[in-house]
Amino acid sequence: MMLAYMDHAAAAAEPDTIEVAMVADAAECAAARDFGGLVSARPAAVVRPASVDDVASAIQAAALTAHLTVAARGNGHSVAGQAMAEGGLVLDMRAVSRRMPMQLVLLSSGAAFADVPGGALWEEVLHWAVSNHGLAPASWTDYLRLTVGGTLSNGGVSGQSFRYGPQVSNVVELEVVTGDGKCRVCSPSSHPDLFFAVLGGLGQFGVITRARIPLSPAPQTVKWTRVVYASFADYAADAEWLVTRPSESAFDYVEGFAFVHSDDPVNGWPSVPIPGGAHFEPSLLPAGSGPVLYCLEVALYKQHQQAEDVDERMEQMMRPLKYVRGLEFAADVGYVEFLSRVNRVEEEARRTGSWAAPHPWLNIFISARDIADFDRTVLNGMLADGIDGPMLVYPMLKSKWDPNTSVALPEGDIFYLVALLRFCRPYPGGPAVNELVEQNSAIIDACRCNGYDFKIYFPHYRTQSDWAAHFGSKWSRFVDRKARYDPLAILAPGQKIFSRTPSSSAKRVIV
Ligand SMILES: Cc1cc2nc3c(=O)[nH]c(=O)nc-3n(C[C@H](O)[C@H](O)[C@H](O)COP(=O)(O)OP(=O)(O)OC[C@H]3O[C@@H](n4cnc5c(N)ncnc54)[C@H](O)[C@@H]3O)c2cc1C
Repeated sequence: MMLAYMDHAAAAAEPDTIEVAMVADAAECAAARDFGGLVSARPAAVVRPASVDDVASAIQAAALTAHLTVAARGNGHSVAGQAMAEGGLVLDMRAVSRRMPMQLVLLSSGAAFADVPGGALWEEVLHWAVSNHGLAPASWTDYLRLTVGGTLSNGGVSGQSFRYGPQVSNVVELEVVTGDGKCRVCSPSSHPDLFFAVLGGLGQFGVITRARIPLSPAPQTVKWTRVVYASFADYAADAEWLVTRPSESAFDYVEGFAFVHSDDPVNGWPSVPIPGGAHFEPSLLPAGSGPVLYCLEVALYKQHQQAEDVDERMEQMMRPLKYVRGLEFAADVGYVEFLSRVNRVEEEARRTGSWAAPHPWLNIFISARDIADFDRTVLNGMLADGIDGPMLVYPMLKSKWDPNTSVALPEGDIFYLVALLRFCRPYPGGPAVNELVEQNSAIIDACRCNGYDFKIYFPHYRTQSDWAAHFGSKWSRFVDRKARYDPLAILAPGQKIFSRTPSSSAKRVIV
């Protein structure tokens, strides 16, 4: 079906290649839902573009109307409707990615890059780069069934971020369709303002149709180790020491999580051993350990031809750490297997039904200055019984983030990601979702009341004053960039930052 205009002048711009799916019933429409399962917004139509020109045509068509908005939808793994467009057009970016092959770009300097569609999953990028070229990007997310455009619109963090930077620091060129329907190629040297606006820009400035990602030789194997701490002070001191080591003596990956001092299969000791790993022996924990314990997770990569003994290096690097001796879990796994480790969690959650249940998740970046207090107040207080899912707590370095991007970060040079990833059994077997949402609000209130230096990652505010507070000193630049690249506020309405402005010569569009 085509988008049809009520006006002859506009008919010239009529796109004839866009496949538009009418939305008959919001309940049947994937674009009306997301992984969070907390909100639903019914679009007027879902557009499955076949090319970049189709993306541009859809945005141009929306611009000709008084009211239509356009949301790029990656894999719909947002948790608060960020990729939805109530009464607007949803662009299925997975559709366009299926028609755009990934390409290897080799420079005469020997540098290698991948040109990948914005709607490609990181998992697809991994398999293509490793299998076809023995190469890989340096920076990942924990879970790879997320799209390139979706994570670049937010940040994209994992245990590699402290060393290689987040995903927004690992891209050298973008092809973007801005809110005026124009396709532009941008980089740090060509249209840098657009390039940095889009990175972490929550979809506000343009639709990413292609990204150029640096590649390096892919490691063959990974030495993956988890160790346990009873003291948060020791855990945080070691984690911060590890992420500030010079790269020649650093791990390739540092993460960690809090868990409950109990035998609960999801929240407690059994969540620590690496798959296939050893039994967790709680009698090794010091007497008087609190209700919450901590697991530091590190990894060293091994290249094929590497002479150095990775086992020995791991042992040396672990020696000064103050973890509980005997509570160590290690495995040697393939690189692709390591990066795909969360797939097992997905399979299990699908089996239990918690993958399809609502996910009231909360992600916060919080300054190292305040993390001990947060641990006392929130992890050991409000969440001492666990959350039926991982409670990630690990540090990263602000110096690895370019301040020109749109991402809002805390002030501190070292800040932690705290990710409260609730996987609840569906109600009534599991807790009522509204109680968990309220608990999230109470945690944010506690952060505010205690004066913590923090920013919400994947924010979802409802008022512009909240957004202004979120971006702080970056807000006026964010507003200026919006006026420049999406003056009618057509794009990413699900973020609820700006309201659509009618164009002066609005036409009516029939879908
Ligand atoms: C199981 C799971 C694990 C996760 N693990 C991590 C993790 O380890 N690290 C991490 O950083 N994040 C993680 N996330 C969060 C994830 O990064 C976000 O949900 C992100 O939005 C990517 O999801 P998506 O590709 O499905 O994008 P969507 O949810 O579809 O979209 C997110 C936002 O980006 C916009 N957008 C999407 N595609 C484009 C595009 N091509 N151009 C412009 N704007 C676009 C949308 O309009 C929307 O505003 C995880 C999420 C889940 C559900």
